Amino acid sequence: MTDQAVLTGIGIGTGLAYGPVARMAPAPAAPADEPSELGAERENARVAEAIKAVAADLTARGEAAGGSAQEVLKAQAMMAEDPSLAKAVAARLDAGKTAEWAVHDAFGEFMRQLQQLGGYLGERAADLADVSQRVVAHLRGLPAPGVPDPGHPFVLVADDLAPADTALLDLDKVLALVTVEGGPTSHTAILAREKSITAVVGVAGAGDLPDGTTVIVDAAAGQIVTEPDEAQLAQAEERIRERAEAQAAPLTPGALADGTEVPLLANLGSPDGAEEAVALGAEGVGLFRTEFLFLSAEQAPSVAEQREAYQRLLAAFPGKKVVVRALDAGADKPLPFLSSSEEENPALGRRGLRALLAHEEILRDQLTALAEAGAATEAELWVMAPMVSTVEETQQFTALTREHGLRTAGVMVEVPSSALLADRLLPHTDFASIGTNDLTQYTMAADRLLGSVAALQDPWHPAVLRLIAEVGAAGRATGKPVGVCGEAAADPLLAVVLVGLGATTLSMTPAALADVRAELSRHTRQQAEAIAQAALAAATAAEAREAARAAA
Ligand code: PEP
Ligand code: MG
Repeated sequence: MTDQAVLTGIGIGTGLAYGPVARMAPAPAAPADEPSELGAERENARVAEAIKAVAADLTARGEAAGGSAQEVLKAQAMMAEDPSLAKAVAARLDAGKTAEWAVHDAFGEFMRQLQQLGGYLGERAADLADVSQRVVAHLRGLPAPGVPDPGHPFVLVADDLAPADTALLDLDKVLALVTVEGGPTSHTAILAREKSITAVVGVAGAGDLPDGTTVIVDAAAGQIVTEPDEAQLAQAEERIRERAEAQAAPLTPGALADGTEVPLLANLGSPDGAEEAVALGAEGVGLFRTEFLFLSAEQAPSVAEQREAYQRLLAAFPGKKVVVRALDAGADKPLPFLSSSEEENPALGRRGLRALLAHEEILRDQLTALAEAGAATEAELWVMAPMVSTVEETQQFTALTREHGLRTAGVMVEVPSSALLADRLLPHTDFASIGTNDLTQYTMAADRLLGSVAALQDPWHPAVLRLIAEVGAAGRATGKPVGVCGEAAADPLLAVVLVGLGATTLSMTPAALADVRAELSRHTRQQAEAIAQAALAAATAAEAREAARAAA
């Protein structure tokens, strides 16, 4: 036997790749706390020059990369030039410290504050660490820390990737990404998904992989296999070939082998993604996350501003279904104008529809903007509410949408109470859409952003599947459509299970459409139901996955 090892982490997407490891160049050594020989004034000038240069470099990289990478890098450049950070650095320089130490120490303090906040902000700490290291490297006259170039294709292994690195990866060289840190919502994960890079994050032990070690990176299984043998490599080769075939297959509508239609829709967070979604065969939009448009807004957006964005989205899908979700604020997606910062457990607080009903004027403005955008375009507009937990909330949301002249209103099933009472909710609404990310978080009592409980955050868990089955059965009984728009729909085999449990449409990141389309086409409805029952009968998530694989 070889020294084979299997490391596990959180797979992003369903890609598979293999090749030799190349590790990220180490960050510059931490500066020592020494007194400055130059004096505060000259140190101040050095810091100002270094920060300006780093911000300019990040902005230039962003412009070269375009797309959402540009947004991310612009945000990072703004972090570098943040006035409160500058103040904290200046205070240390005035106390006689060196520029290097002042930057390192002041940025470190801000990082710790972000980490304590946790969630989305906590994951931004890595971005700040990257800025700090870039500034220190610049002060020392060293090149910016970054991605290695071993001269051949490689599997990039890093502690965590900064947006600046991820954005500029040469996709002809980087076969896959493996990071020690990072959860499913880290920038590495977000950008890997968007660029369809095979990635596994949160892999403890990956930091010990020596350069040049051959590894198989299997995102679907969330595994890294080191020193694979011939048979394993041949199997990997076969899966890569199958996947390439699926990616190149014609963009037919989603359907099972017996012709049962399962429309495949896109999850989008901005109208900018619409064109690519259409090119990848999206038959409409199953989840438009409107809160992503206003994450940095201090004030509630105006009707006109919203109408413009919604109209741009709807115009890209004439005659097609577009499901727009009302603002989902709170927990990992705080919106300053909708969320309370006082809650100790924001995931269990006034988020989603609860926040909207507490600020009804904001919901009314959004529904007005949607109705106007809908009237001005040819798309079939559906509107749904996030985080619905009761029949009363369902009735309230439906009444408000009708009042605004919106024809089709639905509820997201993301809380166990809604799944368990789906048969009583559905008569009061036009459709349901299951958000498996939150439904898993709330069923398993496992924070979806927390790496340490990521193993529990598994939508294959039979407890989650049983709740989905409840909703599917209620959909059939009431004749109402039941979609799935959480990440679970992007896992090809789980997508088959979801259909077997009664899902009538699936919505996912556009990069996953081809794999899901191919897998659905391999099973009839009867087979999908049998596969779903096999998974449902399991006792653990791992057994459910295994049972489904065996049944398929
Ligand atoms: C979900 O919870 O599954 C979902 C689709 O909503 P979001 O990920 O935006 O919370
Ligand atoms: Mg959700």
